[in-house]
This record gives sequence, C-alpha cells and structure tokens, in this order.
Amino acid sequence: MQTRGIRLVVVSNRLPVVVERNKDEWRIRPGSGGLVTALAPILRNRGGLWIGWSGSSKKIDLRSMLDTASQKTGYVLRPVTLTEEDIANFYYGFSNEVMWPIFHDLQTRCNFVPAYWYQYLSVNKKFAKVIADQTGKNDYIWINDYHLMHVAHNLREKRKKLKIGFFLHIPFPPMDIFLKLPWRAQILRALLEYDLVGFQTLRDRRNFIHCVQTLMPDAHARGKGQVITVTVPGRTVRVGTFPISIDFKDFAQQAASKKVSDGAWYFHEDLPDRQIILSVDRLDYTKGIPERLEAIRNALLRFPDMHLKVTFCQVVVPSREEVPEYQALKAQIEQLVGEINGQFTKSGWAPIHYIYRSLKRDELLAYYRAAEIVLVTPLKDGMNLVAKEYCACNIEENGVIVLSEFAGAAAQLQKYALLVNPYDVEGVADAIYRAFTMNRDERRTRMKKLRQSIRKHDIFWWLNSFLSAAFTKHLDDFPLLDEYVPQIEMK
Ligand code: UDP
Repeated sequence: MQTRGIRLVVVSNRLPVVVERNKDEWRIRPGSGGLVTALAPILRNRGGLWIGWSGSSKKIDLRSMLDTASQKTGYVLRPVTLTEEDIANFYYGFSNEVMWPIFHDLQTRCNFVPAYWYQYLSVNKKFAKVIADQTGKNDYIWINDYHLMHVAHNLREKRKKLKIGFFLHIPFPPMDIFLKLPWRAQILRALLEYDLVGFQTLRDRRNFIHCVQTLMPDAHARGKGQVITVTVPGRTVRVGTFPISIDFKDFAQQAASKKVSDGAWYFHEDLPDRQIILSVDRLDYTKGIPERLEAIRNALLRFPDMHLKVTFCQVVVPSREEVPEYQALKAQIEQLVGEINGQFTKSGWAPIHYIYRSLKRDELLAYYRAAEIVLVTPLKDGMNLVAKEYCACNIEENGVIVLSEFAGAAAQLQKYALLVNPYDVEGVADAIYRAFTMNRDERRTRMKKLRQSIRKHDIFWWLNSFLSAAFTKHLDDFPLLDEYVPQIEMK
C-alpha cells in the first residue's frame, strides 16, 4: 500500500544540474558525479524536491530556468545562493582543503584556516533556511555529504520534529587522524543531531563510533548489525552502514546494446591480440594515479612477456581544474605517461593510452566491455562506483578487477577481486601480472560471484535500506508523479 502525500527531499551541495553562461545566454545542463548518478534516477518522476547550489554566484533569476528543468526531471529543484566569499571559503576552503583531505586520511594536505570554518557554519545555516522555508511536516529530509554536516543543527532550532537523515559518501577517518581537526567536537555533535547517520562501510562507522566514544564520554553505542544506536544526553541517534551501489540491470542492459558492443569491438580491432587494462578516475589525488603509473612501470620492467600484449588505457575525467594542486597533479600524470611510453614503446606498440576528457556514457561502457582487466587503486575512496560499473558491464564474465583495499568497494568485493595496497608498487605490479596470466575458468568463477553480489546489492537495495532505517519508509511509499497528491503544508 502506498502512503500518499509524503515527499522525499534530497539536499546536496550541488543541484543535479549546472547553470552556466554560454556567450550572452544562461543555460542549464545535467550535472555529473557519483552522487547525481546515484540519486537522480531514483527521484525522477516521484514529485520530490532537490535543494542545492546551482554552481554559479551570479545574481540571476534561476527560478524559471529551474522550473523548466523540473518539468523534465519530475521533481522540483530549488537553489541555495552562494556568494563569491561562500564559494572561496566554504567550497574551495573548508570543503576542499579541510574535509576532503582529512576524511581521506591525507591530513598533510589540509589547511586549517579558521575563516573557512566560520563560512562553513554560515553556508550550512543558509541551507537550513532554504530547507525550512520549502518543507513541511510530510517531508522526509535527506542531507548528503561532508559539505553539509552542520545542517541538522540549524534546522532543529527552527523545526524540532523534522525527520532528517544524513549520508556520508566519503570515508570517515580513523580516530588518530580525525582528532587533528580543530573543529572535531563541533562536527561530531552536529552529526548527532540527525535521526540517522549513514556510512558506506563498517570501517567508517567503527571510526565514527570510536571518535564519539573518545570525545563524548556521555555517549553510549548499543546494538549490532547494519544499524546501531548511539545515545547522548537528550537524544538517540541511529547509525548505519549502507554501501552505495549502481543500477546493475540498467548497466548490464546498456552494455549489451549494439552501439556499446560495436564500440568495444572497434577498440579491440585497433588493438589486436592485446589485453586492455583500464582505469577510469576523476582527476584527484585520492585516486592514486601517479602511484598506479609507477606500478605499471614496475610491471613492464619485471614482466617483459607483457610487452606488446597489453595496453593500459588511463581515462582521467577533468575535475577542479582551476585549483593549482589539481593542475600540478595533471602535469605529474602527463609527465609519467610520457616517461613510461618513452621508456617502453616499440614499433606498433605504446603501453599507455592516456585520455583526458569526460566520456559519453556509450563510450565509457564500450571501454568497460572491451577491457580484460580493470585497475581500481585509489589511496582511499568512499566506495568507487567504477569498480561496480565495470563488473555490471562485463557480461561475458571474463574480466579481472585489481582493487585497492582502501576503496569502500573492497568490503563487498574483496573475496573475488585481486586486492592490493595502492602504495605498494611491487605488490600492484604482481597483481597486474597475476590478472594478465589468470586462466579463463578462474576469471569466470570470480566475475560471476562479483556480479551476483552487485546485482543483489544494487542501488535500489541501497536506497531502500537507507529509507527504511532513516524514516521507516520504502521507495514505493513515495508515489510516482501521476499519482502524486500534494498535501504539503508550506511554512
Ligand atoms: N564517469 C562519468 N564520466 C566519465 C567517466 C566516469 O560520469 O567520463 C562516472 C562513472 O560512471 C562513475 C562516476 O563517474 O559513476 C565516478 O564515481 P566513483 O565513485 O568511481 O568516483 P568519484 O568520482 O565519485 O570519486
């Protein structure tokens, strides 16, 4: 039975669309990234609401543009307006220079600037105000990710009884690292204002609970299993693990389409008698791209029988290109690719194909289908959807995945992937060689199991387990648009 009149409200730093200026005209285009890929299809046509920043600081009337986009998506889009100062100190500052590196265990990359923290608080307050203005008692509020940890704290001041869940898409660091954060106690207290706090893996949840118990002696954790309870004076909060996933069926179906099959066939025709070894990463220092290139160099040095028989395709998707640190990383990657190709290229064979751009979906899927091996070796990653997408698209079930033990996906895939420490250049090189020489039967057995596991724990499983723990709701409780009866009390 459907519960009528309730609405799911998704809140994230960015809206699932980007507003940008093209010559004299403002345009709107779909956004990208793991969070949008995961949540947009679920909300589509369910008459929900998505609140976030449009990506622009310009004072333009977004309302009519977003209303037009809403008609296409089947859910309402409402913007939070950020100033230049907000973008500099909250987004580039606190989010990118503090939270992102420290939560990925890379505290030496952090800039703990107090002004960043104050702007973080002020922007979280802005988000809370927009949410309070746009929602009513029939709304279920789902706040996403590290940019918005403080929102519930501000929302509770205005609306004590709102149902608010939070999901952290990135890892939660071990205590020794988290304790270095100057605002550690405030962040933990703010998280405990949610009704449910969700993490990707048990390791993340364990780290969080460890920090809570150390910094808040009054806190008590109880229970076991996917969701446990933390009690602090005056509040009880549920804390769970919900590994994010993909729409397995959709990926597998698209991978089998003629367009993708033809694309995959052409890649191999261009590269005959070769195993394609693929990596796909956003340009980011957490992805371990230079470390991986060193492992490839090591493998080519130690295992010369791979020469002429493998092609490494490294796809790097541009990201945060205006940040000097990211420009330096791009230069470092390009230098390494040049060095390694210069060192090993022979007539008719260059070991690394380097692609620096965003791929169209069909092209990405054709790469997934064509690749015999995928290297997913981040230094730390919340989940890593590329690992799951590759398996879903490997419909012939003959691929091998070399996977970092520090990717969230390892918790689920470790048994049948080749697990590596991405800092161990020789260990990764050994795993590449093992994948290269693995026989068909072993490949098939492993890939079958990997695909079974991802098929079972797909994006709908993820969503329903989160909704059920946060709000005792199921996706079917949020009716499709043509059945939607709005009964929202607006403030
Ligand atoms: N992706 C994309 N364009 C590309 C290559 C990849 O949109 O050209 C997608 C890919 O399908 C995946 C996401 O980017 O869904 C990357 O997610 P992942 O969890 O691996 O890493 P993140 O970038 O979120 O850290």
